[in-house]
This record gives sequence, C-alpha cells and structure tokens, in this order.
Amino acid sequence: MVKENILKLRERIADSITIVAVSKGRTLEQIKEAVEAGITDIGENKVQEALEKYNAIRTTPYAQRIKWHMVGHLQTNKVKEAVNIFNLIQSADSLHLAQEIDKWAARINKIQNILVEVNVCGESSKFGLKPDAAIGVIEEIARLKNININGLMTIAPVVDNPEKTRPYFRLLRELRDKINSLLSTGHQLSTLSMGMTDDFEAAIEEGATMVRLGRAIFGG
Ligand SMILES: *Cc1c(COP(=O)(O)O)cnc(C)c1O
Repeated sequence: MVKENILKLRERIADSITIVAVSKGRTLEQIKEAVEAGITDIGENKVQEALEKYNAIRTTPYAQRIKWHMVGHLQTNKVKEAVNIFNLIQSADSLHLAQEIDKWAARINKIQNILVEVNVCGESSKFGLKPDAAIGVIEEIARLKNININGLMTIAPVVDNPEKTRPYFRLLRELRDKINSLLSTGHQLSTLSMGMTDDFEAAIEEGATMVRLGRAIFGG
C-alpha cells in the first residue's frame, strides 16, 4: 500500500520536488517500506518520537538512505537532541530558537540546515513568524555561523476547498523572492516547503520545492 501510494505520487510530482514522508504515529516498518519505494526524506513532529526511530534505524542499512526532517514545533529544551539527529529543521520560528540551534550546532561542529516557518494565514493557533517580521528576523539569523537558512516553510489553514489555500502558498513564494532581493548578506533562499496531503497540488503549482505528505503515503 505504501509503495503503491508513493509510486502514484511520483507520477504526479516532478522529481525536482522533494517529497518528505511525514511518519508521525507510523511504525518503523512503514518508514522502511517508504524508503524501499524511493523516499529519502522522513519528517517527524516530535523530537522524542524521532529520536526513538532514529536510534532504531541507525544500526540498519536504512540509516544512510534517510534524511530526517523536524516539521513540528521545536521547544528550546529539545534543541540539543534535535541538532544531533535532524538534517533539516523546518520549524525555526523565532530568533531565540535559531540562536539556540546555532549554539548547539557549534558544539558539534555542524552547520544546521533550517527553514524559517512563516504563519501566512495569521491564525493565532499556528506557529511561525508573521510575514512582516520574517525579513528582519532572517537578516539576524543569517548572521549565525552554524546555521544555513535553506528557505521557508508554512502550514496552510484548513479549508473546505484546496483552491482556497493557493493565495497562502503564493504569499510564501512572493515572500521568499522579496527576501532574496533584500538580503544584505547575499545569501539566497531556495526551498519552499509547503503543501500536505489535501493541498499539495495547489502548493506545487504555486512553487513548492518540497511537499510534506503523511496520509497520502501512509493512508488514514
Ligand atoms: C502531519 C504533518 C504533515 C502531513 O500531513 P498530511 O495531511 O497527513 O499529509 C505535514 N506537515 C506537518 C507540519 C505535519 O505535522
């Protein structure tokens, strides 16, 4: 089932777009099945759960084939562990958190890849920087030596019709382009992580370079 789902998705999603299989609540067997079907990027939303899976997989041949992504809200007291295991922290949503990531990354001589999470819809229940604040914060984060900002991430609001998410995805793309034109460091952001099972097609049409899929891959 997982394999069929991934093969079908790959027919619809260009190879240039990274599919992150979001495996929260899923088993190791399901993760391995996804990797067998060509998935290289695995997303988790809790550090503890990710750590357990990471440790179970690290002694297997799958370990080399997986890049781990943190897609959930990251608490400051979990940053140390997060920096140890994640290739990409997609949920950097404040300067303070970025400074903490930088600090722990420096201790293990790592340049930590991150995405800055932006709250495009303004819902107070969602994490992420307000679009207006993003540029200033990114200017500051870009100065941190042990962080590399790959791009932006967003979670669109839940709507009845995926078409309604389109303006939010467009906003994220326009924000990235604006930031790239303004960043005094000359650094360029490329990644746009946007689109989940219900709305990834609209997200891709609006410029997503990375989609985060849970149910579309694992069912449910
Ligand atoms: C769970 C989750 C996803 C995947 O959601 P689906 O709707 O199952 O595709 C993507 N992004 C984040 C941040 C998530 O927590």
